[in-house]
This record gives sequence, C-alpha cells and structure tokens, in this order.
Amino acid sequence: MTSNHDYRFAREKMVKTQLIPRGIKDPGVLAAMRDVRRDLFVEESLAGEAYNDHPLPIGHNQTISQPYIVALMTEALELKGDEKVLEIGTGSGYQTAILASLAHKVCTVERIRALMVKARKVLSDLNYRNILFKAFDGTLGWEEYAPYDAIIVTAGAPSLPEPLLNQLADDGRLVIPVGNKYSQELVKVIKKRGSFVHENLGGCRFVNLVGVHGWKE
Ligand code: SAH
Repeated sequence: MTSNHDYRFAREKMVKTQLIPRGIKDPGVLAAMRDVRRDLFVEESLAGEAYNDHPLPIGHNQTISQPYIVALMTEALELKGDEKVLEIGTGSGYQTAILASLAHKVCTVERIRALMVKARKVLSDLNYRNILFKAFDGTLGWEEYAPYDAIIVTAGAPSLPEPLLNQLADDGRLVIPVGNKYSQELVKVIKKRGSFVHENLGGCRFVNLVGVHGWKE
C-alpha cells in the first residue's frame, strides 16, 4: 500500500476533530490513535468509513466502538507502559491494538470464537507480540494471569462482574459500561487497599455483555 492509501490524514483529522476537542489529553493515547490502522479492523467495504465518528458493524451482531469511546476508555486506564491489561470483548481487535501499543502485556477474552480468530490474525499480521487471546466467557475474567493493573470491558454489563473486581491489582483501574440493555454509564472503578472507589465517565451505548456475570442470552 502506498502512503496515500494508509489513511494517515483521516487518522490525523479524527484526532483533531473527534478526540482533542472532547478532552482527550494523554499524549500516548493520542499517538496510538494516530498510529493504529483502524481501517484494517473492519471489512474492506467499510474501510472508507473507519475513521468516522460512530461505531461500525463487524459481523455476528457486534460492533467496533466509536473512536472517541476507545480513546476515552483507554485514557481512563492510565497506562504508563509496564502494565498487564485484561480486555473483555476483543471484537475486531482494534481496542486491543491500542492497548498493546501502550501496555506491557494484554490478555484479551472474546466469547465469539470466530471474532477472536479474525482479530488474532489481523494483530499477528501487524506484528503485535504482547497479546494473549482466549475464546471464553470474560465475565469470569482470566484467572491464570491475574491480578491485572487495568481491566477494560467493551460490552455493556447489568452490574459489576465480581470476578473482575477480584482479579484487579491494588491501585488497579477497571473501566466498564454498566446499565440496562440499551444504554449504560461508563464506570471507572479504582481498587484502593481492598476497597473500591467509583467514578462516572458519562453515558454510552454498547452491545450486551453476555455471560455468567452478565446478561443471559
Ligand atoms: N473492543 C471491540 C468491541 C467489540 S463489541 C472493538 O472495538 O472491536 C463487544 C464484544 O464483546 C463483542 O465482540 C462480543 O462478542 C463480546 N462479548 C460479549 N460478552 C462477552 C463475554 N462475556 N466475554 C467475552 N466477550 C464478550
């Protein structure tokens, strides 16, 4: 692909018009959003829309989140580079790529195996080497690598899944949409000496988190 077709200008415009004016400040997050080829995480026919200000379908009734929401959630995780991150809801793998650019290691869990396989292929072709994948119910977390410095859930939950709170390290951050099936609040939870501090980051709309500690199918 030539430089004219790598959407670099679309990414720069996305950062300048969708992220900075809405308050995204973390230089690492802005750099990752400028660098990662979001167009490679959607179907080829949708590549031209990949940098638009909205989510897009990725098959199996799921969506790739709006760029601003990806940036907002990532910024809330306060990544400095040495963290182990747990992501629930791999989907297209786009958010995974942003996390893998900013953290030491990403463990990502997706309940739809076909989406996990597709995301793993895209991310491996892009040479990410610090991501572990699992096709599983992420409401149970991923015990093997716990505790995590940061946990991000990219599907809407009815309440905070207990296993995720248990798998959070002390001073760890969990970012998760919580609400009903149609609209949620983005909640940030910080674990402080065994207790939890909550912060509300605003309204949002995600596909459902389906699992033992989520919605029933
Ligand atoms: N971050 C992804 C968002 C994908 S949509 C992206 O930007 O592409 C949310 C994803 O969460 C869907 O792929 C859905 O299948 C997945 N999901 C829903 N419930 C889940 C669960 N219990 N465990 C793991 N993944 C789940």
